[in-house]
Amino acid sequence: MKSPSKEGKGIKVVTTETQMRECAKLGLKVPSKEVANEEDIDVVMCPTADTPTTFTDNEYGECSQCGVKIMWRPSAPKAQKVCIPCGYNLALEEMNGC
Ligand SMILES: [Zn+2]
Repeated sequence: MKSPSKEGKGIKVVTTETQMRECAKLGLKVPSKEVANEEDIDVVMCPTADTPTTFTDNEYGECSQCGVKIMWRPSAPKAQKVCIPCGYNLALEEMNGC
């Protein structure tokens, strides 16, 4: 599998170790764990709100794609927040150029 080029366009997907594990649990491979400039990030993949976490100051909201309850760290980039499956699908679509 060749690595997709992200030149010029691209959803930058943010992942953390927790999200990597969450993706693995769902049988998903995380497209990229690279984080570019924060202002280039279009989508932040967030775990669902019922995911066990040791953080007590998470912010909560809804996936902008499917509306499921998700959470993110206060330090997360100010970008569209989506759940992991939606973020994964968006990243795949972007890579496939459609
Ligand atoms: Zn979603």
